[in-house]
Amino acid sequence: MDMQSSLLDRLLAAGLLIDTGIDGLYGRSGTFEDVIARFEKLIDAHAPADARPEVIRFPPGMNRKHFEGSGYMKSFPQLAGTVHSFCGCELDHMNLLQCIAEGGDWTEGQKATDVVLTPAACYPLYPVVAKRGPLPAGGGLFDLQSYCFRHEPSKDPARMQLFRMREFVRMGTPDQVMEFREDWMERGQKLIAAVGLDVELDTANDPFFGRAGKMMGNSQREQKLKFELLIPVTSSANKTACLSFNYHQDHFGTTWGLTTADGETAHTACVGFGLERITLALFARHGLDTADWPADVRKALWG
Ligand code: ATP
Ligand code: ZN
Ligand code: MG
Repeated sequence: MDMQSSLLDRLLAAGLLIDTGIDGLYGRSGTFEDVIARFEKLIDAHAPADARPEVIRFPPGMNRKHFEGSGYMKSFPQLAGTVHSFCGCELDHMNLLQCIAEGGDWTEGQKATDVVLTPAACYPLYPVVAKRGPLPAGGGLFDLQSYCFRHEPSKDPARMQLFRMREFVRMGTPDQVMEFREDWMERGQKLIAAVGLDVELDTANDPFFGRAGKMMGNSQREQKLKFELLIPVTSSANKTACLSFNYHQDHFGTTWGLTTADGETAHTACVGFGLERITLALFARHGLDTADWPADVRKALWG
């Protein structure tokens, strides 16, 4: 492959990503996974030593009721992925097979299950924590990681349909969650600098759907509710958001009845690491062979 080839072509040719025939849906090689695992260890090493989060790992599917309650379909209907299954009788099965044989749309008979694909690692968390009752006096701090689904097929390897997000989530008073977010904006930049990547911090907005969504995005930006760390992946002119720092105000607190120890509606914030995006940025910057990466980067990741 010559240098003119796209990053995606080079990653596929090197076997780091494995083509499935669907844009944004790839297998990962052992080397690719090793970089992700090592980078996650580095995240742990950059986390504050005096604040032990509760570790929870949800599967990549969540309770549909919790998904509906979160208001995701109001904001991002274009990205959601629902899980449907065949729920018919034997006659329905025969019709299904015939439909497939005739090349028809066999999916029309599929029924929605109680599971939807997780759109962001923190969505399953809020209703589960709210159900426990009021937060403890110091608030809540959680460590999450999940495959997430977003229906945004693209030739850009940094825009996948299924990708992993590592997240820390803070719940508590506005002061507690704002302090957490400030702290991670600092730590995140140090973490990325430690692996030899250039970072730029910027305000951002989520891709809310439609015309009303445009206004929601503008207001999110004006209130500085979302920051991103931008890192070159496919282009140094158009950098890619690899970490995000989100302040939800009392959105999830109000939605799920989540309260502080004092009975106030809890505020929440999360920091999300796009694990594939960071890994892609490393390969784009340091080359496709990890043995050739700069010594200090290798040391930071492999010790
Ligand atoms: P973008 O504006 O590029 O779509 P986003 O604002 O949707 O990103 P978030 O919703 O904040 O991203 O998700 C948290 C992190 O997950 C992002 O900072 C990014 O690193 C990663 N991420 C988001 N979408 C994708 C995707 N389609 N493929 C891979 N990683 C992603
Ligand atoms: Zn989150
Ligand atoms: Mg997006």
